[in-house]
Amino acid sequence: MTNRRSRIAGRHFLQIPGPAPVPDRILRAMDAAVIDHRGPEFQELSLKIQRGLKSVFKTDGPVVVFPASGTGAWEAALVNTLSPGDTVLMYETGHFATLWRNMAERLGIVPEFIGSDWRTGAEAHLIEARLRADPQHLIKAVCVVHNETSTGATSRIDEIRAAIDAAAHPALLLVDVISSLASVDYRHDEWGVDVTVAGSQKGLMLPPGLSFNALSAKAIEASKRSQLTKAYWAWDEMLAANTRGFFPYTPATNLLYGLDAAIELLLEEGLDHVFARHARHGEATRRAVRAWGLEILCRDPKYYSPVLTGIVMPAGHSADKLRKIALETFDISLGTGLGKVTDRVFRIGHLGDINDLTMIGALAGVQMSLELAGVPRSGDGVAAAMDYLARSAEEMRRAGALQSQAAA
Ligand SMILES: *Cc1c(COP(=O)(O)O)cnc(C)c1O
Repeated sequence: MTNRRSRIAGRHFLQIPGPAPVPDRILRAMDAAVIDHRGPEFQELSLKIQRGLKSVFKTDGPVVVFPASGTGAWEAALVNTLSPGDTVLMYETGHFATLWRNMAERLGIVPEFIGSDWRTGAEAHLIEARLRADPQHLIKAVCVVHNETSTGATSRIDEIRAAIDAAAHPALLLVDVISSLASVDYRHDEWGVDVTVAGSQKGLMLPPGLSFNALSAKAIEASKRSQLTKAYWAWDEMLAANTRGFFPYTPATNLLYGLDAAIELLLEEGLDHVFARHARHGEATRRAVRAWGLEILCRDPKYYSPVLTGIVMPAGHSADKLRKIALETFDISLGTGLGKVTDRVFRIGHLGDINDLTMIGALAGVQMSLELAGVPRSGDGVAAAMDYLARSAEEMRRAGALQSQAAA
């Protein structure tokens, strides 16, 4: 566009897979005075948040909160549990798994990478086979990204836990749920995860700036022997201060107001409803993509992500040109292709505070942008998505009516 307008009416469509849109109630909760983080009011807030986080991570153990992006919590998970030269088994689900691997290397850990073509989730049987070939238990941890945000593949953490158990291997299990927490069902305790790494700006519907480590008793034990250098990220002082409702340093007070509101919103809607909503929007998006005649990046339906869909551009068409047209014409941000799929893939985020009509609006924005970018498409994806959402809404309404009849 030649004329840059000073104002664009209506809401920007932030359809990238994080940061996700922040609901008004969370924005209003953060618009408050900064309080004394060593006073009683803060203490009450922080203890309440600690209880709420346990429900969201599905754990009875502690959840440490860092004022940092998700990358900080990645580092905290590694430096608290491992020692220089330790081998860790990681899985190349995509760009984020690759970044975590690179970080491990920089920290003096020795990552072993199970390679993949970025079109599937982490295969549990490959992890099991590698662990069985390690009778001396040189592998100290298995690190997996639950929802690979660069591709749109969600791995099965329950299966990976079972694989580690089947190999009778004592490695710790470290899981990145930065883009899946509060969007996809996740069970820290039940799945025997040792460190869960999360961030604030995706399913939790907060601005960027907070990150999390949920800890098992085994992880806390490992932290007492771990030899990697740590200070800011060390769990020990954090856990000691947290038991009294405080932090060893200044916490991000106003983001914590937001977190308190976010937990309230999630529990009010009900986590199962939140997960079902994401699953429906993932299905609607994939139906739209198929109707357009475009290719979904994730090749195995078992791993389809409820959080985002990666879409492969037809040969000769630029994903970034499409994204530019979408932003400039319809004020919608779509996710860029990362790492080795740059310009060949774009991503539609369908996470966080999204309803059926925002979803349809986003898909309409993509369809009109495909038109303007001259990308050939075979059919009407928006109609396919509307059809699916209407039918499944009707089914849910009937099921709900039956349930309330049964209750009456
Ligand atoms: C967003 C994301 C990260 C990086 O988090 P930052 O907050 O940008 O540091 C890491 N892993 C996954 C799976 C992500 O989606």
